[in-house]
Amino acid sequence: MMFQTNARADLCDKARVLSMRYGNQGGAEALCGAIREDFPGRIGLVSSFGSDSAVLLHMVAQIDPRVPVIFLQTQKHFPETIAYRDTLVRHLGLRNIQNITPRPAHLKADDPRGELHKSDPDLCCHVRKTLPLLVALRSLSCWITGRKRYQTPTRGKMALFEAEDRWIKMNPLAAWNAADIADYMRDHCLPEHPLKPMGYMSIGCAPCTRAVKYGEDVRAGRWAESDKTECGIHFVNGRMVRGAPG
Ligand code: SF4
Repeated sequence: MMFQTNARADLCDKARVLSMRYGNQGGAEALCGAIREDFPGRIGLVSSFGSDSAVLLHMVAQIDPRVPVIFLQTQKHFPETIAYRDTLVRHLGLRNIQNITPRPAHLKADDPRGELHKSDPDLCCHVRKTLPLLVALRSLSCWITGRKRYQTPTRGKMALFEAEDRWIKMNPLAAWNAADIADYMRDHCLPEHPLKPMGYMSIGCAPCTRAVKYGEDVRAGRWAESDKTECGIHFVNGRMVRGAPG
């Protein structure tokens, strides 16, 4: 127990030191340092291949296209997202895409008809995202997310590096806003997700995503028919947070 407490404190210290070293701002320079110096061979990007994903995927591909890119293939994605994943992999020359699927035994036990998202979306995300992610992260010490501070109040004070469960989590775009993303996409001629022009500003699984209306928040189309706002692939103090950012 004492060891676990010390290990947790060490991880928190490490996250603080890393955030200070990179000025808590992030971007390509910090990402390069994390990939090449801080966590060589032990860092991966978790990507949804959603509306903003091309930016981080491009940065990672420029630094090292062999960095693992973990795609949680929930088997509920839009066909357009799968096509976009394949387009970006080819376009960027990514060489280590890992398509992580839920365990058949878990689906059989909890979601035999594939309709769990209607009755218990938290459990559905747990089975289709959180549990597969835990397996995918086993060989890594640090994982990279695309979350940004401007997106939601709960992300407003997000550090560049965080300690979470056994991992350091890096948020290289924490300080970016929507205009920064648009500028980067344009400057690097990155292809757009095919659903974005139709108003899909934040894109997750098909049954839980709709286009946003004029004036709505960018994440208003996620789980729009329920009070759920986040997917739950993030953990705090070793426990999954139902409703944590995805
Ligand atoms: S986003 Fe919806 S369909 Fe996808 S795992 Fe979560 S509840 Fe299930």
